[in-house]
Amino acid sequence: MKMKSLLVLIGGALISIITITTAQAQMPQADVDTNALKIYRATPPKYFDLINTKLDVRFDYKKCFMYGKEWVSMKPHFYPTDTLRLDAKGMDIHEISVVEGGKNIPLKYVYQDSLSLFIHLDKVYHNTESFTVYIDYTAKPNQLKDHHGSAAINDAKGLYFINPDGKDPNKPIQIWTQGETESSSAWFPTIDKPEQKTTDEISMTVPAKYVTLSNGRLASQKLNGDGTRTDTWKMELPHSVYLFMMAVGDFKIYHDTWHGKDVDYYLEPKFAPYAKQIFGYTPEMIDFYSKTLGIDYPWNKYDQIVVRDYVSGAMENTTATLHGEQVQQTGRQMIDSYYDTDDQQVDIAHELFHQWFGDYVTCESWSNITMNESFADFSEMLWAEHKYGKDMGDAHSYLALREYLGSPDAKEKDLVRFHYADKEDVFDVVSYQKGGRILNMLRNYLGDAAFFKGLNIYLKTNAFKNGEAQQLRLALEEASGLDLNWYFNQWYYGAGNPDLDISYKWDEGTKTEKVYLKQTQDGKAFILPFAVDVYADGKKVRYKEWMRDKADTLSFASNSKPDLVNVDGDKVLLARKKDNKTTDEYVFQYFNAPLFLDRFEAIDALGKDQSNKGAQKVLVAAIKDKFYELQIKAIKALDISNDAIHNAALPVLASVAQTDVNTLVRAAAIKKLGDLKASGNMDIFKQALSSQSYAVQGAALSAINKLDPAEALKLAKGFEADNMGDLTVALVEIYAKTGGDAEWPFVYSNFIKARPQEQFNIINEFAAMTGHVKSPEYAQQGIEALRSDGVKYKKYGVGGLVIGLLQNIKTERTKVNDAASAKAADDAIAAINAAK
Ligand SMILES: [Zn+2]
Repeated sequence: MKMKSLLVLIGGALISIITITTAQAQMPQADVDTNALKIYRATPPKYFDLINTKLDVRFDYKKCFMYGKEWVSMKPHFYPTDTLRLDAKGMDIHEISVVEGGKNIPLKYVYQDSLSLFIHLDKVYHNTESFTVYIDYTAKPNQLKDHHGSAAINDAKGLYFINPDGKDPNKPIQIWTQGETESSSAWFPTIDKPEQKTTDEISMTVPAKYVTLSNGRLASQKLNGDGTRTDTWKMELPHSVYLFMMAVGDFKIYHDTWHGKDVDYYLEPKFAPYAKQIFGYTPEMIDFYSKTLGIDYPWNKYDQIVVRDYVSGAMENTTATLHGEQVQQTGRQMIDSYYDTDDQQVDIAHELFHQWFGDYVTCESWSNITMNESFADFSEMLWAEHKYGKDMGDAHSYLALREYLGSPDAKEKDLVRFHYADKEDVFDVVSYQKGGRILNMLRNYLGDAAFFKGLNIYLKTNAFKNGEAQQLRLALEEASGLDLNWYFNQWYYGAGNPDLDISYKWDEGTKTEKVYLKQTQDGKAFILPFAVDVYADGKKVRYKEWMRDKADTLSFASNSKPDLVNVDGDKVLLARKKDNKTTDEYVFQYFNAPLFLDRFEAIDALGKDQSNKGAQKVLVAAIKDKFYELQIKAIKALDISNDAIHNAALPVLASVAQTDVNTLVRAAAIKKLGDLKASGNMDIFKQALSSQSYAVQGAALSAINKLDPAEALKLAKGFEADNMGDLTVALVEIYAKTGGDAEWPFVYSNFIKARPQEQFNIINEFAAMTGHVKSPEYAQQGIEALRSDGVKYKKYGVGGLVIGLLQNIKTERTKVNDAASAKAADDAIAAINAAK
């Protein structure tokens, strides 16, 4: 599963990372239950092995019911038994029988709490005997919560009816499912644990105008003569029940292929023209991952579908990945899409890799979710590296590291998580971002050949079965011949990360460079292998070092004082670093050390010392760095009020603003030029308005707004019909500053429909306009929108910010004697204060 994630950036400062998993998306996060945390979350006992699951289902769009008939075949796992327990959430059960000789023999059962079916079988079965249970039932996903309201059921419905009565003209009518973690049992009775694997066959009877999708192959389609059609999908290889899926709706299918296997993309008809642009990398990715892992894509086909109102980011259902609507973009939007600033390709890579790590070999229990999610996270950087080069892979990896380090309670949690309050909690920055970095460090330590050989052994050994971290350790040990117990104990069965302090001293007398290393975190020392590169006398010498204690000193002999000592030369350590290098060393590092992070660290440090000539040289050179994210970083860092920088950077910025191939770099340069408020640049800005890139247009319009607000207001009108992303932000800025009540409906409707991150991009402007619109009705609309955001996102640390904005609004409304709106602002503040 890919989480929805959101970096809350306000004024460029990272406030918080919002990640939303299935359960959180639907209900307010309860306080962590400390008693629940004490429970040891073992792998559930396996009394039965599922063998095959056959379903025959019809949908009632009016009631949002699903009428199901199920034939589930299984056998006892080891011990003989006559009692079967199945998970079945909130259903009406009409009949349960055992099928023998073509006849249904009714069975006695108890349906406990509308959660568990305890079925008394007709005899004691041994593990050499399989049997089939028939169940006639009605699934009622929308009533799950009303029905129970108990803590045992989170309100993950499993089966979702979107706009079932067709009343919303802006939304298609769709049905789709979401199994992970244990919600498949809301639409068919099963043993809803990841350790169960079964083949399946699903027959869906649907209105004939719709398309269906499920796992495996479409075995048959039959028109029923009553306006319905029955599609039968067969999944002939075993997979876990949480990976079962169905989708029904008006989708256009774009056919693609890899090595003779169907690779299809299902989109809403209006996005179908962009199918190839959105998903077209998939066959190349399948090829790359197949080769990297030494195992060809293991399933019969690979489909991807995009649905509305999805509850998370995306889900790796076997052979049928489901994406949220965020991947559905137009051609113009995709002009500004780059890996890292383009979630769709990252999502596509992530879910595809799960087809091996998650679907082919599945985590044994939710405690071992790292066996799915850390790999999928890691795959995002693998693809970036392969497709766009090492800088892109490293940049993606570093972003993930920062997300982990920036998450306050993440360092308390083990990667293999035997204690959690709710199983949804394991979908977090530890299982994803940190786990991905732990794998990358391991890859660096073992070397690519041994590491990927180990993954190959793990996948082959556990194919169509389950795995836990120990099985990965054994596979990697087999491949490399090295003991890895220490590594797994430290990183998989332990928590936290080292905080490294690094300082340097040259001793001219002994011709020795000393490097002082300290681990300043609480608790014990981490064992860290890493490379140290010593740059001296025009060459680089690499040393392999180990740090085993909380403090250590390394010594390097050198003919002259090194220009640079680069600890963690491969830049893979999962650590928070305080590196006490000098400005000269960072200047040298930018121009001589090879990696993304070498240059990133240099720009970061030198941005704080812009009076230094060397720093100026680096920052100006970095405007044309070979990697776009560093270009943008340098452009943002430039202090153009400094004359030397201004003079050196200006021609470079002007050229980059007009000609850089990357639209985000162009936009950043235009924005920087805009800060100068120099009318000489007006031509550059006006010319940029004709770009197809929303980012470039938005930056140009903002820059014009700084020079000539009246002109910007006039120009803005021309973009109201077609705007997205940064262009929308620019329009809102302009209207909030210069516009009046006539512009409010545009600003308001764009704020309301924006995604959370986009809302926070424009929240200051939106609040300012709420303060100064004439109409009290408009002001109260704005206040209500801010109240809603403040309450919803308070848990991510934005409560204070929104309250501050509301206080300003109250002051403004009071000034114009709008008592009703001032009171509304007060009420909104109270509501945010009262929210959890
Ligand atoms: Zn995932």
